[in-house]
Amino acid sequence: MNIALIAHDIKKKDMIHFTRAYKYILEKHNLYATGTTGMKIMEATGLIVERFQSGPLGGDQEIGAMIAKNKMDVVIFFRDPLTAQPHEPDISALMRLCDVYSVPLATNMGTAEIIIRGLERGDLNWRSIISGQQVK
Ligand code: PGA
Repeated sequence: MNIALIAHDIKKKDMIHFTRAYKYILEKHNLYATGTTGMKIMEATGLIVERFQSGPLGGDQEIGAMIAKNKMDVVIFFRDPLTAQPHEPDISALMRLCDVYSVPLATNMGTAEIIIRGLERGDLNWRSIISGQQVK
């Protein structure tokens, strides 16, 4: 499945902990990320991540475009809930598209853990039917 990973600056450490802890699940899937998040994940875990632009430069919109084509199956988005972002409209648009296409979206560690464990158990295999991918 195709999984998007995004973390605002204050949450990048959390994303590294998350991807280290669940590397054994994530390495079976296709990983995508905004620029800096993807670089930090690759450095910390050795996972292969396809990187888009940094979030403020359009990375969220690139991920949104994949969602609009039904090519993204999970979005893990560790947002900074306490700081205004210059690309707030892009963030809102990305989350709105997740709702339009019923893409599982986690915006914090608690939900991300549930989604990743569900992914491991096969709870999200229905996404493969929608997007026509093989279940790995
Ligand atoms: P970044 O972008 O991974 O390039 O830091 C994330 C964001 O701010 O949306």
